[in-house]
Amino acid sequence: MEKWLLCDFHIHTNMSDGSLSLREVVDLYGEAGFDVIAITDHIFDGKYLKRLKERGTKVPSITIENFRDYIKLLKEESKRAWKEYGMILIPGFEVTNNTDKYHIVVLDVEEYIDPFMSVEAITELVRERGGISIAAHPEKKESDREHLSKHLYENMESFKELFDVWEVANQFDLFNSVNLAGCRIVANSDFHHLHHFFSWRTLIKTYRDKEAVKEALRENENVAITFFSPRFNKEKEAEKAEELILL
Ligand code: ZN
Ligand code: ZN
Repeated sequence: MEKWLLCDFHIHTNMSDGSLSLREVVDLYGEAGFDVIAITDHIFDGKYLKRLKERGTKVPSITIENFRDYIKLLKEESKRAWKEYGMILIPGFEVTNNTDKYHIVVLDVEEYIDPFMSVEAITELVRERGGISIAAHPEKKESDREHLSKHLYENMESFKELFDVWEVANQFDLFNSVNLAGCRIVANSDFHHLHHFFSWRTLIKTYRDKEAVKEALRENENVAITFFSPRFNKEKEAEKAEELILL
């Protein structure tokens, strides 16, 4: 049966710059009643990693060397997530170009992607491999936070159809321009630390099956964004979403 599933497609662990382990993240989301999550640790671009090193900062990253092991770990953990919580875990990663300012979340692709590949080449590769591409936090402002996607914001019109979906909300932020441009939408927590847990998420009406969830994202019809708070009640939110699609 199709149901409203509570989803988060953009989550980090301590395999990149998050603070919880993979297992801790799965238990946190599983116990909170999530239906679908994607683990999406950073593949940082080489120049950014060099800049960090020069500053004496060390941040773990998914690299071409550890990529296979990373995907293997996610696949193993996805079995436990399903067994213990009935929760789907989609393996993913965030192609993180902090030099040219674009972050692309990639779901269900088992191939390393270099962040210096162009947006066009990355999204095409993801499509060919049957994955999902998400334009992450497209933001216009320059910021001291390095992880913004100014390049995606500035080219929203021409890149619009290249991505399966765009983040209309990320963590505590809303990106109205994504809505105004008529992009297909998704909302994610970009979870790094515990204080990001109560944040934007997505409800999708579909079957509890990875391929069905991917297809529903692409079709983007029964997709509702929702703010997950301590008072969040999945049944009530699903009822509200149902009323809205019947309008
Ligand atoms: Zn990012
Ligand atoms: Zn992220």
